[in-house]
Amino acid sequence: MIRTRFAPSPNGPLHLGHAYAALVAHDVARARGGECILRIEDIDGTRSRAEFVDEFLRDLEWLGLAWDGDTVFQSRRLASYAEAGERLKTMGLIYPCTCTRAEIAAAAQEIGPDGPIYPGTCRHRAADPAHAAWRLDVAKATALTGPLAWTDEAAGPQSATPDIFGDVVLLRKDLPASYHLAATLDDATDGITLVTRGMDLFPASHVHRLLQALLGLAVPTWLHHPLLVESARDGELRKLAKRRGAPSLADRRRAGEDGAAIAQALREGRLPAGISLSQGVHQAP
Ligand code: GLU
Ligand code: ZN
Repeated sequence: MIRTRFAPSPNGPLHLGHAYAALVAHDVARARGGECILRIEDIDGTRSRAEFVDEFLRDLEWLGLAWDGDTVFQSRRLASYAEAGERLKTMGLIYPCTCTRAEIAAAAQEIGPDGPIYPGTCRHRAADPAHAAWRLDVAKATALTGPLAWTDEAAGPQSATPDIFGDVVLLRKDLPASYHLAATLDDATDGITLVTRGMDLFPASHVHRLLQALLGLAVPTWLHHPLLVESARDGELRKLAKRRGAPSLADRRRAGEDGAAIAQALREGRLPAGISLSQGVHQAP
């Protein structure tokens, strides 16, 4: 049986792009007689707000989406992330880094999917672990695992290239986790067999595949779906975003719009003027 998930972060209201992601996760599971869970990715203490979570639950119900089992909250799983972090420390695969963002930007030689690639400054220096983020030594880790592969249902078989981000942060200075570590552990804990999420996270899956190998986790299949995009002022197509004025689902719900009809329109590919779906399959850079 397949099991998928919708995993929003409560750091802003949901908009139509989130509704699309939720529908993909939900409908793929329903179409195949599987299950879909709702996971709230609320470990970013500075940006997460409990009020958004209440709104999310109302928005999703308004769209006509129901989830299997209890809603999962990442903030309740910090101990398990920390435990995995300790295992990676014991394996000698993560190292403390005290570099600031500005130092990294100044020293970086390359730009990766998330911005400047960390140049490895602390890899061989004993940074003070008390005030450090912990980074994965990707070269050491991949030497240990050997070549890895994974499959996206739309894009097909992939050879893992986890080095595209450089040495990613797995434990933040303020948190015993990072997005990569928490999401990978959760997908295993939650028994997710098909990771559905937006194509913007396609590169991250290379890193997640490596973490699965290092931590002995089950390997799911992925389905990275297109994103809802709109033309920005500069004429470029950009992902819908609250900060560019995408109306929130909560506002539309309160204005009395019909959520089930909005969901149905998305399913049929009827999109509001100016909004379209990004290309269907991830293109290698
Ligand atoms: N929490 C992430 C987001 O809202 C999604 C992470 C994932 O699906 O892996 O963009
Ligand atoms: Zn550093």
